[in-house]
Amino acid sequence: MIPVCEPLLTEEDAALVLDCVRSGWISSAGRYLEEFEDGWAAYCGMRHGVAVSNGTAALEIATRLLDLRPGDEVVMPTFTIISCAQAVLRAGGTPVLVDSDARTWQMDVQQVADKITPRTRAIMVVHIYGHPADMDPLRELAIQHNLIIIEDAAEAHGAEYRGRKCGGLGDISTFSFYANKLITTGEGGMVLTQRDDWAERARALRNLCFQRARRFLHEDLGYNFRLTNMQAALGVSQLRRFTDIVARKRAIAAAYTERLRELPGLDLPVEEPWARSVYWVYGIVLDESTGIDAAELARRLYAHGIETRPFFLGVHEQPVFHKLGLFRGERYPVAERLARQGLYLPSGLTLTEAQIDQVCDAVRVSLTHH
Ligand SMILES: *Cc1c(COP(=O)(O)O)cnc(C)c1O
Repeated sequence: MIPVCEPLLTEEDAALVLDCVRSGWISSAGRYLEEFEDGWAAYCGMRHGVAVSNGTAALEIATRLLDLRPGDEVVMPTFTIISCAQAVLRAGGTPVLVDSDARTWQMDVQQVADKITPRTRAIMVVHIYGHPADMDPLRELAIQHNLIIIEDAAEAHGAEYRGRKCGGLGDISTFSFYANKLITTGEGGMVLTQRDDWAERARALRNLCFQRARRFLHEDLGYNFRLTNMQAALGVSQLRRFTDIVARKRAIAAAYTERLRELPGLDLPVEEPWARSVYWVYGIVLDESTGIDAAELARRLYAHGIETRPFFLGVHEQPVFHKLGLFRGERYPVAERLARQGLYLPSGLTLTEAQIDQVCDAVRVSLTHH
C-alpha cells in the first residue's frame, strides 16, 4: 500500500529528541522550544511565535485574541477543516462562509467583499493544500473595513505570496505540525503575531492564564495547550532542513503534473504567477465527463494498493452545524463540487519516483479501462 502522506524522519530528528530527553527538559520549557518558536517566527517574518499542542489549539487561541462579542462575524472559506469554524464559535463569534475559486480552490475574494457587514471583525484566510490565497485584495478589504486578518497556514509552511511567506501576511497566523504537515512535531502547532500584547496574551491562554505575580490567581479562562520541548526538538531539526523539504514537495508535484497533464477530465493543482506553492498535498479534481466521482476513483486506486484522501466536505454541509441551526440551506457550488470530485494522491516525503509512476499508471487505468 502506498500511504497518502507519511512523515520522513531522519537520524538528526532522533538525535535531537534523544538530546532533549537526556537534558531532562522534557516538559514545556527548554531551549528547543525557544529555538523553534523564534526560528519559525523569523522564517515567516513575524516577531513572536507561541508554540501550542496542535493546529486546532492555535486557531482557538488566535480567535480568542479577537475578543469577539455575540453577533461578531468572522468571514472564512467553507472549504476548510472544521477547526476553523469551531474556533470562531467557541470564541463567541459567528462564522460567515464564502465559496472557493474554482481554479485555485482558495477563498473567493469577491464573495468576501460581498459578505462584509458592520458586524464583521475579522477575515480568516486559509491557504488550501499548499497554495496561498490571494492576499492583496483581502488586505485591502481589511484596511478599508478595519478588520483583523487571521491566516490559517497549517497547509502552507514555506509557501510564498508575491515573495513573502504565508504565515507572515496577516495580523495573526496559525500553523499545525501534525504528522502529515510539511514540518511535524508529531502533534503541534504555533500562533504567530507581530503584536507584543497579543503574543503575551497567547502565552497566557496557552498556560491556563497563570499569572506571574501570583501563580494560582486567574483573571481569565485559558487552556492547557502547551507543546513539549521534546516535540520542539523535532521541529528544530526539521527547520534546519526545511529548504530540502519544500524542494522535495515541489519535485513530487512536478513529477505528478508531468505524468498526469495529458489525461483528459482531470483538473490538476495550479500555481498562480504571484504564488509559490509548497504542494502540501497533490489534489486532483475529476471532471463529470469521466463518469465517476472521487469516491469511486478512490475505490479503484485502493484496489491498486494506493491510499488517497477525499477533499474537505464544506463547513456548510456539516450536520453538526445544521443541528446548531447554522448554515442551513446555504449553497456553495464550487466547494460542493470539490467535495465530491476532488481527492488527493499520495504526497508524503517518503514517496519515490517509482511510486509516483505506479500511482499515475493506476490513475490512467482507473479512468480509461472501466
Ligand atoms: C491540519 C489543519 C489544521 C489542524 O491542525 P491539527 O494540528 O491537526 O489540529 C487546521 N487548519 C488546517 C487548514 C489544517 O490543514
